[in-house]
Amino acid sequence: MKENLDNKYITFTIGKQKRIALIAHDGKKEEMIQWCEEHKEILQRHFLCGTGTTARLISERTGLPVKGYNSGPLGGDQQIGAKIVEGGIDFVIFFSDPLEAQPHDPDVKALLRIAQVYDIPIANNKATADFMVTSKYMEEEYQHEVLNFRQSIANRVEAMK
Ligand code: PGA
Repeated sequence: MKENLDNKYITFTIGKQKRIALIAHDGKKEEMIQWCEEHKEILQRHFLCGTGTTARLISERTGLPVKGYNSGPLGGDQQIGAKIVEGGIDFVIFFSDPLEAQPHDPDVKALLRIAQVYDIPIANNKATADFMVTSKYMEEEYQHEVLNFRQSIANRVEAMK
């Protein structure tokens, strides 16, 4: 982690071994399992986690180790969002279902938003996931610029005086 000259951004490094979160709504779980099977060679070189049901199904059906958080409707998406903020997750594959209303829609939006804030690669469909996982950056470190929140707090506190 490196603060840039003007302190506005901090350079974060996504390591060679990615910490990948996998999430699929019910209507997309089969697609997610197939996708993981298809990219098993690549995925097994990284650290995998996911929302409860998705993680369990992927583990059982593909043999890949996937750490499970709570189920999505019970706060799993929020746990993954919090891990992004803490710097513990740096890559997300999220097969959301655009044709089905979700009880936890606000959590879904919150996760998408926080991934955007922290410049986290996030795929919402199979085509994007295919492009991402076969990118040359999967084999290397990747540096990206994230807003400097310490500086942002300092500026805001100063402005409130
Ligand atoms: P699930 O949660 O993996 O526990 O089904 C996914 C979601 O709906 O966000």
